[in-house]
Amino acid sequence: MNNSREVVKLSILGSTGSIGIQTLQVIEQSRGKFEVLYLTTNRNIDLLYQQVQKFAPKGVVIRDYDMFKEFKKKYNANIKVFSGEDALDEVAASSENDLVVSAIVGFSGVKPTISALASGKNVALANKESIVVAGEIITEITRKYNSKIISIDSEHNAILQCLVGENLDTVEEVILTASGGPFLNTDPKNFEHIQIQEALAHPRWSMGKKISIDSATLMNKGLEVIEAHWLFNLETDKIKVLIHPESIIHSMVQFIDGSIKAQLGPPDMRIPISFALNYPNRFKYDFPRINLAKIEKLSFFEPNHNKFPCLRLAYDALAVGGSAPIVLNASNEIAVNAFLGGKITFDKIPACIEFALNKINNKAKPSLEEIYYIDKLTREITESFINNLN
Ligand code: NAD
Ligand code: MG
Repeated sequence: MNNSREVVKLSILGSTGSIGIQTLQVIEQSRGKFEVLYLTTNRNIDLLYQQVQKFAPKGVVIRDYDMFKEFKKKYNANIKVFSGEDALDEVAASSENDLVVSAIVGFSGVKPTISALASGKNVALANKESIVVAGEIITEITRKYNSKIISIDSEHNAILQCLVGENLDTVEEVILTASGGPFLNTDPKNFEHIQIQEALAHPRWSMGKKISIDSATLMNKGLEVIEAHWLFNLETDKIKVLIHPESIIHSMVQFIDGSIKAQLGPPDMRIPISFALNYPNRFKYDFPRINLAKIEKLSFFEPNHNKFPCLRLAYDALAVGGSAPIVLNASNEIAVNAFLGGKITFDKIPACIEFALNKINNKAKPSLEEIYYIDKLTREITESFINNLN
């Protein structure tokens, strides 16, 4: 951050996940620029303890109560150890933070992300689900408390980089690139037989399980379309998606004069993370560089909405607005968990989401309480749809 103090104090919500771990790698290579205040996990206490030993935070939050008790029994960490949702919120809202990294997966990231932004602090945001379900409320909060979201998501991070020195009014459209996931060239007739391990094996990125499945269905890109709408105040028709299997261009912005700016780099999340942590400045890191001469070609083509209905469902949910993105997100989380638990086949994921979207009445401008209610209702309805499938 552009902070007058030399050392930036930060907390990482979800430090034991893929983004959390890579954020700590960036911090390790930042030569004392950052000080870690709080780290949090849901259940991964062993990794959390290793992180405590290495980064000496002031305290940790272990969301799961059983694992919190286990941690206390197993480790003699000389720091504050908290448990539960409220503790997560308190850490997120702590006045000691200069910056909060929001890297919890799914709807569970909504409340702490909002708490951090409402404390007037900037948030380096990986948890895209929070802006998908509460985009309007979050936008109002950032205005009211003068806080800023700097997206870690590589596409939005790329767009932010392209927009440096530009006026938002001169943006004609943004082009989100997508690798296409592991089933880009798979015949959809075979989607029914996809194994969990095949769906988790992303061709370009190594990520947490939920986002890996979202990338395989293209729901990840759908969530990112909604994320782009809120982050850059863009209408749906100004947000395009292009399949770009090489994953070298992380996204592009086309301006009103026909000029296109793109951000390129190796597919390594530490690069967008470091940009978000140091924003609006840059800092030297020795992450891998791309050798453009060794890349034979960069290819682009339109996504196939019939083959990947999740992307279309997300565009539709954004166009409908109101509570539709909440239903989209919650039914997707349930469907992805059901697939990972062996309860449904890969091809049934979009069917679960479509069912929930058709079943639940839309609510314009939902409040935070209503967001919670709609999320819970959608989970119940999707679970019962899944139970009836079997
Ligand atoms: P992950 O599953 O690897 O890690 C999730 C983290 O959240 C872990 O620390 C876990 O302990 C914690 N967590 C899980 N459930 C929780 C709960 N109920 N309460 C509190 N904490 C909980 O996930 P990830 O791949 O690091 O993704 C995190 C977020 O970043 C997601 O929203 C994802 O869409 C986004 N993102 C990830 C990548 C990537 O490369 N992994 C890229 C762009 C965006
Ligand atoms: Mg992304």
